[in-house]
Amino acid sequence: MSSSQGYHLGLTGWPLGHSLSPVLHQAALDALGLAGEYSLYPAPPLPEGRERLVELLDQMRTGRLDGLNVTIPHKQTVVPLLDRLTSVAQTARAVNTIYREDGKLVGDNTDVPGFLADLHSFLSGVRLSNQKALLLGAGGAASAVGVALAQEGWQVTIAARRLEQAEALSLRMALLGIEPPGAILLDGNTLRQHLGVSSNCLIVNATPLGMSPRDSETPWPERLAFPPGAAIYDLVYNPRETRLVRTAHKAGLPARNGLGMLAEQAALAFERWTGRSAPREAMWEALSTNEHGLAGII
Ligand code: NAP
Repeated sequence: MSSSQGYHLGLTGWPLGHSLSPVLHQAALDALGLAGEYSLYPAPPLPEGRERLVELLDQMRTGRLDGLNVTIPHKQTVVPLLDRLTSVAQTARAVNTIYREDGKLVGDNTDVPGFLADLHSFLSGVRLSNQKALLLGAGGAASAVGVALAQEGWQVTIAARRLEQAEALSLRMALLGIEPPGAILLDGNTLRQHLGVSSNCLIVNATPLGMSPRDSETPWPERLAFPPGAAIYDLVYNPRETRLVRTAHKAGLPARNGLGMLAEQAALAFERWTGRSAPREAMWEALSTNEHGLAGII
């Protein structure tokens, strides 16, 4: 429900850079003829940023703000400051969207269903003969992706440059009653050994490798062929064609960037806040024509 002067929405995190979220949400408000704005509220990491976070949540409680997105480094740190979590946020142990319900602040996670919606669209044109996934990275986004995949019955292996981080994510998922993923090191030798069991698999990049301005990087070792029949989903969307996506296309494999996930998690957050169906076409159109190019992060 909006306050009298329209919807006051925003994003908190640090740093926020040229976030694409204002572009997406303003396009949605405009397309539906709703008054309001979407602003950036930088809040440094804790402990310095705690006061700012508390103040923003107070604005949510008192109706001066109608909806808040949360990004790095607050997706977990905001949890104890909320009244309740949706089950998906509880499972992912991370919040990217906060809304008000019956005077209470609810933490939700739209990255999980946002990823799944775009993955389904991607895989509708791709034939994978099994449900095996190799997840590169074990940070916040990997956690959302791992939960999403495991809940849909995928057999997941997590590859991280710190084995203990991959093992910790696997353990967390096991504690939630989700099929615990395998955990391996993200390095050339280990991936080579893993190739035998990863043909026809889905590879998801949830590391920032390849993200502008470090476009020349890739999480997949340079001299290692992709598993035969693999499909590649790169959460990175800036640049639009990452080196990983380009190499996969050159190898004749289907590959997609994370722009669709970005748009869908925003659409779902917009729906939580306004109760209206998000104008996805207008949001997508705004993404393709925005003045910042793709220099933003959510
Ligand atoms: P994060 O929590 O910092 O996790 C990043 C992961 O990548 C960690 O496992 C990290 O390992 C690993 N990593 C970082 N640098 C690496 C390197 N040089 N070599 C190997 N592994 C490395 O970040 P995040 O929130 O998960 O975000 C990851 C990426 O996903 C970002 O590019 C972000 O923009 C993108 N993302 C996209 C969407 C979307 O809607 N498309 C949504 C969320 C995130 P260490 O802990 O050892 O550094």
